[in-house]
Amino acid sequence: MADVAVWPACDVACAFCSNPAGEYRRPLAEHSLPSLVRRLTRWKAGLERFHKFDAARDNVTLTGGEPTLHPRILPLLAAVRRQFPGVLVRLLTHGRRLADASFAKRVLEAAGAPFEAAVNLSGPEDGLERSFAGALNLLCLRRPGQRVSARYVLTRETLGRLGPLAAKMAEKLPGLSGLAVLFPEFEGRALASPEALGLRLTEAATVLEDLAPALSKAGPLSLYHFPVCVLGPRLRPLAAKTLDDAKVVFSLACRGCRRRAACVGIHKSYARVAGCGEFRP
Ligand code: SF4
Repeated sequence: MADVAVWPACDVACAFCSNPAGEYRRPLAEHSLPSLVRRLTRWKAGLERFHKFDAARDNVTLTGGEPTLHPRILPLLAAVRRQFPGVLVRLLTHGRRLADASFAKRVLEAAGAPFEAAVNLSGPEDGLERSFAGALNLLCLRRPGQRVSARYVLTRETLGRLGPLAAKMAEKLPGLSGLAVLFPEFEGRALASPEALGLRLTEAATVLEDLAPALSKAGPLSLYHFPVCVLGPRLRPLAAKTLDDAKVVFSLACRGCRRRAACVGIHKSYARVAGCGEFRP
């Protein structure tokens, strides 16, 4: 899964955002359509590297910032589809521009298939209705080979509203192909957010254990960035290995852990902020 940051700017300031604020978020010449197409062409030929998941070739993930803010997102999607026929193109988005049904339709047309739109439903409550509307437009307008999933990133604040929101997803967004609940990476903007930094994996896992039945009604549930040992037996099979090896560490306590091969590991930034005392084989 090569992650291609197509547009670094974003119009929402999520507390969990792992992108830096400031200069990074200013669109640069390297994010122009010709530049991105050139980089993807070189990547396909093995001449270019992307920062995250460079080695994976089974899909191309368009991310940001917010990729739908790219002024030429439609021709970019069409170009990616032409360059990678048959490869899953995934769009990570806050979904708010897609509340415009005609824009959502054109995104789906340009992206072709196979395609997945993963809509983040954990942004600030102000404007969240537009994310729901965007996800619903995609669900209504998608074609064969196109799917829509939801993502939800935890902070102390979003953990508190996850229960009601899961019920709303199940009711308002029937047909989601999945719901991924993510523990935040303590990077970028999140490093200045007490809401993100204050959350602990074991605390989040305890709440998720109670919410699991409600969450599963919204769509097939998966958990990203959770070391296996913080999860109870019901949630353990749902933990996905979602972090690049370069981003994680294992503690001394992990030695001899029989779940280590299936475990994503401990995010380095989490270990720096919270230590490794929570992890036991
Ligand atoms: S003890 Fe270490 S390797 Fe085992 S599940 Fe926990 S974090 Fe993963």
